[in-house]
Amino acid sequence: MKWRTIIDQVQALRGGHAMTKQSTKQSSELTEANVRSGWDEYFLNIAMVVASRSTCPRASVGAVIVRDKRIVATGYNGAPSGEPHCTEVGCLMVDGHCQRVLHAETNAIAQAARFGIAVQGATLYYWDSLNRSRSCTKCAQLTAAAGLTRIVTTAEQVGK
Ligand SMILES: [Zn+2]
Ligand SMILES: [Zn+2]
Repeated sequence: MKWRTIIDQVQALRGGHAMTKQSTKQSSELTEANVRSGWDEYFLNIAMVVASRSTCPRASVGAVIVRDKRIVATGYNGAPSGEPHCTEVGCLMVDGHCQRVLHAETNAIAQAARFGIAVQGATLYYWDSLNRSRSCTKCAQLTAAAGLTRIVTTAEQVGK
């Protein structure tokens, strides 16, 4: 599948994204600053593509952990590695939440732990097809416990 197709599909899931800002500009206004996105938009766009791998039909969420402008881990909402996914066996609903999946942020931090990558002081980029502006309480606690110091979502930038 072509890269552009993936982005279009994920954008369609969400019904628009910050990226579309650029296409509405007059071409005469296009400068290098417009063409070359800022770091936050760049990593958020990557988080959007990561979200396209989500395996729970309830939401597509992507997380990207960045240190010194380098991606050190990514995660999407899905079952733990080796376990069946919602797309194969259905969601496991308890109190209105799917218990089969680990959330994107938790999966990203687990991936860093698996390979022994420090995330203290890192930034978490969070993209969500439901346009929620923040992590759930458990992921926010885990993010803080792991020492990440900044969270950037499409809706707001927290921490700085
Ligand atoms: Zn599910
Ligand atoms: Zn969560």
